[in-house]
Amino acid sequence: MEDTKRIFIVEDERRIARFVQIELEHEGFQTATEDNGRRAYERIMQEDYDLVLLDIMLPEMDGVTICRKVRELSNIPIIMLTAKAEVEDKVNGLDIGADDYMTKPFAMQELLARIRAALRKHVPEEKEEENVERYVLKNLVLYPSRYEVQVQGETVELTKKEYALLEYLMRNKRTVLTRDQILQEVWGYDYVGDTNVVDVYIRYLRAKLDDRFHEKYIHTVRGVGYVVKE
Ligand code: CA
Repeated sequence: MEDTKRIFIVEDERRIARFVQIELEHEGFQTATEDNGRRAYERIMQEDYDLVLLDIMLPEMDGVTICRKVRELSNIPIIMLTAKAEVEDKVNGLDIGADDYMTKPFAMQELLARIRAALRKHVPEEKEEENVERYVLKNLVLYPSRYEVQVQGETVELTKKEYALLEYLMRNKRTVLTRDQILQEVWGYDYVGDTNVVDVYIRYLRAKLDDRFHEKYIHTVRGVGYVVKE
């Protein structure tokens, strides 16, 4: 018997999301829903779904951007749901790496057929890969079990301390961490030495990440400490 497929419904119109969810569950799928674009992107990267139904107009991050960003790192099947029937949107949808598109309003039977087709066509990545714990920030992924950091799929060489510092920041994404907190966590309670060591290692990380990949991952909060966030 085939295992139950998990469908992630990204849709900010609650009525549509609910309707699709009920129909899919009736057909034996597992479902999850999300109405915020930025959170949807993070959940796609962090949780294990078999297929994403992706609305285009969403708060905080639109479906086209989500699809592009997901495609930098994953080949999970994506079916775009667009409110507009314009041809440009359809072409654009496939252009950005979506597997299929549907215009709203759509017939449920048609959507089910396309979901099944996309799932059949999809060659899953190694199962092992999918279950690996990971932290995602923009195009950066950190794998704690392997002490590995990748940006756009490329492994970045970090020293042990640089890695430990980054992992601590990533585990606390969007939380401002003080120098003292960082010192205690990464260098240990018994660390004796210059507290500037945190700033020095932040500089090392920025050189290897922010500067090299022209992205801002690590933000300074003046007088307080550091935070990683989108
Ligand atoms: Ca919408």
